[in-house]
Amino acid sequence: MNYRHAYHAGNFADVVKHAVLSRLIEYLKQKDKAFRVIDTHAGIGRYDLSSTEAQKTGEWQGGQGRRGAGARDAPAAALLAPYLGAVRSLNPDGGVKKYPGSPLIARHLLRKQDRLSAVELHPKDAARLKALFDGDFQTRVIELDGWLALGAHLPPKEKRGLVLIDPPFEEEGEFGRLVDALQRAHRRWPGGIYALWYPLKDRKAVAAFRKALKQTGIPRLLDVGFEIRPASVEPSLDGCGMVMVNPPFTLEGELRTLLPALHRLLAVEQPSHWTLDWLAGE
Ligand code: SAM
Repeated sequence: MNYRHAYHAGNFADVVKHAVLSRLIEYLKQKDKAFRVIDTHAGIGRYDLSSTEAQKTGEWQGGQGRRGAGARDAPAAALLAPYLGAVRSLNPDGGVKKYPGSPLIARHLLRKQDRLSAVELHPKDAARLKALFDGDFQTRVIELDGWLALGAHLPPKEKRGLVLIDPPFEEEGEFGRLVDALQRAHRRWPGGIYALWYPLKDRKAVAAFRKALKQTGIPRLLDVGFEIRPASVEPSLDGCGMVMVNPPFTLEGELRTLLPALHRLLAVEQPSHWTLDWLAGE
């Protein structure tokens, strides 16, 4: 486990992932009934953008650093507001010096009846996450393999909620593992909302991943593709994608507003595109 999210926190891929995550949580809040967010690869939850790691790559400057990642047009700005509120809550004096990871964004958006399970395998990261949420009875931090958590922790007792699966993609076969894990999880909890993050780096692997997802027979799969530049000759993170299972009926429309605004903000080279496709319908 060499991957350290501190090098990448707040980059364009985090902005896209966290903006989508916040829309999913806002939807769940439309009903009073409690829900649970399960974050299978949670990271450390809070990142210092002046750290040696963040400064070394400077990646956040191409993401959250781009004018606070706010969108100029009002409908997109309204959709981004919950996510940006979570970022602002860590930076009460203005600017962006700290960046919240997915568990902290989720926690910021929860109501008092909702719960968060944050799973992290790296012992040091899990310890930092435990310290961050110390004394918070709504959050449970679990030091565990996230792939195993998908078996052991599903379905949650609330029977409503969202599973974020955001692996580091540092090992061979991560796309295959993601498909297998989703199939197992979906068998245990077919009614859950799932959000899977993946890199647009190896285009052949992405095409095979999308094909494998279609072949699972899992219905209601919505796929977001978000390129920031044309495909590079050498493998490089040219974009990212997210697959949602059981997306809220509001999500497609929201993404058609949000993605073009984020793309105008975050794309570094043209031609590059955003896409939104149903890999499987009802
Ligand atoms: N979801 C986080 C966010 O958006 O702020 C970022 C997560 S980062 C991409 C991936 C994390 O997964 C790293 O913190 C890494 O230590 C952790 N990790 C790696 N393998 C894991 C596994 N098998 N189970 C759980 N966590 C794992």
